[in-house]
Amino acid sequence: MNTDKSNKKIMLIYPPGKAYQRGEDRCQGNIENSAATSIHACNDLGYVASGLHGLPYRIFLKDYPVEKGRVSDLISDFKTFFPDLVFMSITQATIFHDLDTIARLKTLHSGLVVVLKGALFFDPVDTGLSRLDLSCVDYLIGGESDFVGARLIHCHFNNKSPHHLGGILYKHQGAWIKTDFSRFEDNLDCLRFPDRSLMNNQRYTRPDTGRAQATISVARGCPSSCIYCLTPIISGKKLRQRSPENVMAELRECYHRFKIHDFFLKSDTFTLDASWVKRLCHLIMGSELCGHIAWVANSRTRPLEYETLALMKQAGCWLVAFGFESGSPESLIKMGKGATVDDSLRAAGLARKAGLKIFGFFMAGFPWENMDHLKATEDLIYGINADFIEIHIPIPHAKTPLNHLCTVTGQYSVDDLGHDYFASPATGTLHLSKGQIQDFRKRVLFDYYFRVSYILNRLKDTIKNPKALIYYGHYALRLFVNLVRVRP
Ligand code: SF4
Repeated sequence: MNTDKSNKKIMLIYPPGKAYQRGEDRCQGNIENSAATSIHACNDLGYVASGLHGLPYRIFLKDYPVEKGRVSDLISDFKTFFPDLVFMSITQATIFHDLDTIARLKTLHSGLVVVLKGALFFDPVDTGLSRLDLSCVDYLIGGESDFVGARLIHCHFNNKSPHHLGGILYKHQGAWIKTDFSRFEDNLDCLRFPDRSLMNNQRYTRPDTGRAQATISVARGCPSSCIYCLTPIISGKKLRQRSPENVMAELRECYHRFKIHDFFLKSDTFTLDASWVKRLCHLIMGSELCGHIAWVANSRTRPLEYETLALMKQAGCWLVAFGFESGSPESLIKMGKGATVDDSLRAAGLARKAGLKIFGFFMAGFPWENMDHLKATEDLIYGINADFIEIHIPIPHAKTPLNHLCTVTGQYSVDDLGHDYFASPATGTLHLSKGQIQDFRKRVLFDYYFRVSYILNRLKDTIKNPKALIYYGHYALRLFVNLVRVRP
């Protein structure tokens, strides 16, 4: 191996293809087929880049889907930059396509080192890996790549074994060796901020204004046990937060250095620790950013107090996203949500009272569900009347309790790879076919978004913000095309 690292070139990419939320391992959402979601910044690549700062590497970073880049563009960039190592963020849905892309790059440079990162590689059982042709791949990162990505690359070019790095797999004498997947890093403040000087920040935008929106990861982990969710597995059940001061420093860097005024404060459960939220809000309100930034965050429906939401609003929050999931009490209990229909209605009421817009996420198609369960969810959707909604068909991700349940009940196709929330590998429920669930999703979304009262409400938004008309129009067109298209 060449140990002269002074000229090593590192290519960090989201490969060409459909836009997926590649950096968010928990959901890996398909953006193009979604009802109203927007793409978030490629922070996972930015973290690797910042982790290599001060070390003698040359870095090329590109998110091809948001740049509308094609495979030919990637090939051209590859030939020009001619990297020694490619780091690619993958998803469960795109993995076959991603591996094809890697194979093409490998034909251009047989000595290319390949690192793939994604939740698919979190502590995998052998049978999972054996379904993939990983012959062109050198390393897999299933743990927290923001902590280990740069260190792994540095280990490689210094001929050091990466066995001490948690959450990875490396090849040794032709076999995959797994390192420790049992521990999570507690000190999130020790991470450098993602290198936004290499990202095309203007490509990640707030959906109603088109202004640049940065993603800032503020916390991770969740003590809940929703049977479909990857978070407790890949991020742990302990809530781990950055200090509010450290988050403020990143907000300031984005605002002053990159002129970004809009933010997604990313966390699995932003409002879980109300005292932490209040400290952050007070810091924002006491800073020069107060009144000049706007942000969105996720929240559980409980625990949740009006005081927290009102303070968030004062500190610039304009939208809060809730996973309401279902209007069926039975489904909420069986999915382990730890919240009731009343909690959902209460949370939505509090958010509205605080002046916040609401994004409601719902799910349809759990193994036990029939049309009555789905009808209860539809009733809740209208009962809450959120500003934006999405309905996901649950994916039985490996290692989740839902995966076990679907396997036991037979509601699971053999291969879970290559699927997403809109074309789940679940073959249906005990009572409904997969087609019936997909048709339910499309009908409800169509009826919800294209009713007169909803359109009038969005038009009201455009009085204060006329530009929103263009952006809402864009999303409405995308939704219309997705809903009238033949089901996947
Ligand atoms: S509340 Fe449930 S869905 Fe949300 S992050 Fe926690 S486990 Fe996942």
